[in-house]
Amino acid sequence: MTEVARTLVVRTRAELRSALADAPRPIGLVPTMGWLHDGHRALMQRARTENETTVVSIFVNPRQFTVADDYTRYPRNEARDLAIAGAEGVDIVWSPPVEEVYPPGFDTTVSVGALARPLEGAARPGHFDGVATVVAILFDLVGADRAYFGQKDAQQVMVIRQMARDLAIGTEVVACPTIREADGLALSSRNVHLSAEDREAATVLHRSLIAARDAHAAGERSGAVLRAAMHEVLATEPRAEVEYVSVADGRTLTELDEVDGPALASLAVRFGSTRLIDNEPLD
Ligand code: AMP
Repeated sequence: MTEVARTLVVRTRAELRSALADAPRPIGLVPTMGWLHDGHRALMQRARTENETTVVSIFVNPRQFTVADDYTRYPRNEARDLAIAGAEGVDIVWSPPVEEVYPPGFDTTVSVGALARPLEGAARPGHFDGVATVVAILFDLVGADRAYFGQKDAQQVMVIRQMARDLAIGTEVVACPTIREADGLALSSRNVHLSAEDREAATVLHRSLIAARDAHAAGERSGAVLRAAMHEVLATEPRAEVEYVSVADGRTLTELDEVDGPALASLAVRFGSTRLIDNEPLD
């Protein structure tokens, strides 16, 4: 155990348990994969406002990567992360090695059904099994009253809500707004891999979503027309390799012919080997 400012840094399950033994409730949890940025900071701030104890986990979860190379390449800088968590007044950081999360012999997968299949689930088979499995472990180990997630990963929040409800886990799942750069690019740990040209080109994701949002606000209800509006903006950026563009039901994530209720516009785009996602609710 180490202390950074007044933040307790723990690595094993046993250390986490003892750090939490007399922690005042409610406990708010912010699960992260590190390389913390202002999006993560906003989650920590919200957790601090609403809870007596704030716990941040930093764990690059191998089970949610579908390409081994992506796992190896994921940016890591624990010292910097601990300084940020300390500055945000986080009480406990759990930064475990892989075997503390998945002890030898670990052989269980939490698999969410229909919500986990389209979009990111289709593009990255097995991804949400890895997410649901690690989050179920985190919820249980921390005994969190609330857990904070970014709307940036909208499908992830929905999958985790479903998982918590189905498994009767008492942790309340709180979704927080996407934090963006001044030019609209959603903050992401993966942005660090973008070249200067790709970084500039990457604003096309948000511009494309805004096109859908504006068309929807102006009364457009055809899913095909809204998707076409997004494609049209993306096509102006030759560096962008579009993986998917979606206008889906906001509750089920099935693609819509007609938008007649809450919907979600979302997309995944590659710039070289860096894959970015973003979304915008259409309410
Ligand atoms: P990650 O470390 O990328 O796994 O993200 C940890 C949490 O931070 C997840 O709940 C993400 O949805 C959330 N998050 C990541 N980027 C942002 C952002 N730009 N705005 C708000 N939340 C974010």
